[in-house]
Amino acid sequence: MSKLDWLHAEIEGLKAQGLYNRIRTIESPQGAWLIVDGKRVLNFCSNNYLGLANHPALVAAAKKALDEMGAGPAAVRSIAGTTHLHLELEKRLARFKGVEAAITFQSGFTANLATIPALVGKEDVIFSDRLNHASIIDGCRLSGAKIIAYEHCDVNALEAAVKENLSSYRRGLIVTDGVFSMDGDIAPLPEIYEVAQRYDLLLMVDDAHGEGVLGRGGRGIVDHFGLHGKVDIEVGTLSKAFGVVGGVVAGRATIVEWLRQRGRPFLFSSAVTAADVAACLAAIDLLESSTELVDRLWDNARYFKEEMKRLGFDTGVSTTPITPIMLGEAPLAQEFSRELFEEGVFAMAIGYPTVPKGKARIRVMISAAHSRADLDQGLEAFAKVGRKLGVIH
Ligand SMILES: *Cc1c(COP(=O)(O)O)cnc(C)c1O
Repeated sequence: MSKLDWLHAEIEGLKAQGLYNRIRTIESPQGAWLIVDGKRVLNFCSNNYLGLANHPALVAAAKKALDEMGAGPAAVRSIAGTTHLHLELEKRLARFKGVEAAITFQSGFTANLATIPALVGKEDVIFSDRLNHASIIDGCRLSGAKIIAYEHCDVNALEAAVKENLSSYRRGLIVTDGVFSMDGDIAPLPEIYEVAQRYDLLLMVDDAHGEGVLGRGGRGIVDHFGLHGKVDIEVGTLSKAFGVVGGVVAGRATIVEWLRQRGRPFLFSSAVTAADVAACLAAIDLLESSTELVDRLWDNARYFKEEMKRLGFDTGVSTTPITPIMLGEAPLAQEFSRELFEEGVFAMAIGYPTVPKGKARIRVMISAAHSRADLDQGLEAFAKVGRKLGVIH
């Protein structure tokens, strides 16, 4: 008997249920094609929506900043880690998104952990979509506020929960994903805003998968719905479409000012590097100069989804470039992913706890980096594996 026996049992349990993560190794830069575990494969599972992760302009900007500012920040933002580049990025992001102010964090995950506990506490209540991202859930838990999860994208259920509970608390916050990362559907933000407005609640949207994807030239979900000035907090990530790493909170100047004082990851975890920040600035330059990449992303996504449906696959409720291929049980999804890899296509299976039990899937992430020939090759592999495993006929 050892005190770690329970862990061995847990891990064996994951393997038996098809829920054990077998993590593959990437040996090339991000792009439509990757070297994975020594094999050249078509990449269908990165969040590199616009192909910026290895874009020459971003790489050049990072190299220049590395030469001028060095490798590490050596400090948290609030002590000696705020460079002129960090401030410029925040100014540019605020302008890009058409908000009063913006503050950046190490990641989208830490942006949520910073923001929610800074705004609500034990006397308060949070109304949270049932399918919100793990970082929102963790931020809510950290805050100590009462958490009421409402049915996914159900505005009537949200309003009923608000009516029933709000009076017992000091302040209320509504928080939702913008684009839901596993299903690719979009939150009904205009209707959610109406509820926030009616009951005077703070409104926060996490637009990690909408940043660089939705709205004019990728300006995000608030722009997509024309809700400028109406959403208090828009969280985003610089790690997906922007192709680098980092998180952002954009919105009211007072909230941004408060997060500089009380956002714990800002105060207690080091700044991102100058090279990262410079690469993000180069990404904004590209997004502001042309909508070509965003347009190509949507063209590719539409094409791939239509063809997958024609083949007979269930692509769920997605209305964005996130394309889930619903398979049901986790072992089938894992087998499907392994077979695709044999066919030269890298698309990982996703199971519990990332998605509910019985809703395992392959999630295909379409990118502007894919050519039509890439997509056709991917479709052929899906058709072959789908027939072999009896998913389509
Ligand atoms: C990916 C994601 C995050 C985390 O962003 P990182 O920058 O990778 O930490 C947060 N929220 C949502 C909704 C996401 O999809």
